[in-house]
Amino acid sequence: MIGILGGTFDPIHYGHLRSALEVKEFFGLTEIRLIPSAQPPHRKEPATSPRMRLQMLELAIENQSGFVADDREIKRTGPSYMVDTLSSLRDEFKDIPLLLFIGTDTFNQLKTWHQWPLLFSFAHIVVMTRPGFNPEQLEDCFIERHTDKLTELAHNNAGKLYFYQVSQLDISATAIREIIAKQQNPGFLLPDTVIAYIRQEQLYLRQ
Ligand code: ATP
Repeated sequence: MIGILGGTFDPIHYGHLRSALEVKEFFGLTEIRLIPSAQPPHRKEPATSPRMRLQMLELAIENQSGFVADDREIKRTGPSYMVDTLSSLRDEFKDIPLLLFIGTDTFNQLKTWHQWPLLFSFAHIVVMTRPGFNPEQLEDCFIERHTDKLTELAHNNAGKLYFYQVSQLDISATAIREIIAKQQNPGFLLPDTVIAYIRQEQLYLRQ
């Protein structure tokens, strides 16, 4: 199985990286592909360019076996719709289960995503939950896709919805940008190689 974690990654931090590692190990993924969004459709424009966000991601996962920095959204023009990304991954990886990992907040907005029902034709969706999340309250449109059996993910290439609890490190890219803008040290929230890049390129100095 191949995992996919999309995001703005402005910048990438240990919250993203720890979740990626935990799901890679738990689901036995052959690889986890981290895909920076060039033009996120659902939020204001990122503070840094797509190319810089990709470079920070590459630095963060250097030497991490099975972690892949995937630049397909950056190479496309127009809004970065996940449905287009999954469709292109499905073309590339013909017959292998794809697992799209999203946070609980993202899951709560899933129905606002472009052509959202089509996502399930290309991949399973795994929601990375926080303690206390209750899948019992699922909307009808998700109930039929929901499974708590791992084997169903492995035996189908797409179409299922699964919930998995990951460690929730209380780190956000927004908080990191604020720390840097206040001239404070963001150490231990993200890899040192990424901090060095941010300093070299003088990123996030203004909010
Ligand atoms: P921002 O603060 O700029 O909104 P962010 O830190 O939330 O950014 P994103 O790039 O928007 O990061 O997140 C990409 C994905 O990673 C999303 O699915 C999000 O739910 C998840 N994620 C973000 N922060 C964490 C964290 N601390 N722990 C686990 N998952 C996270």
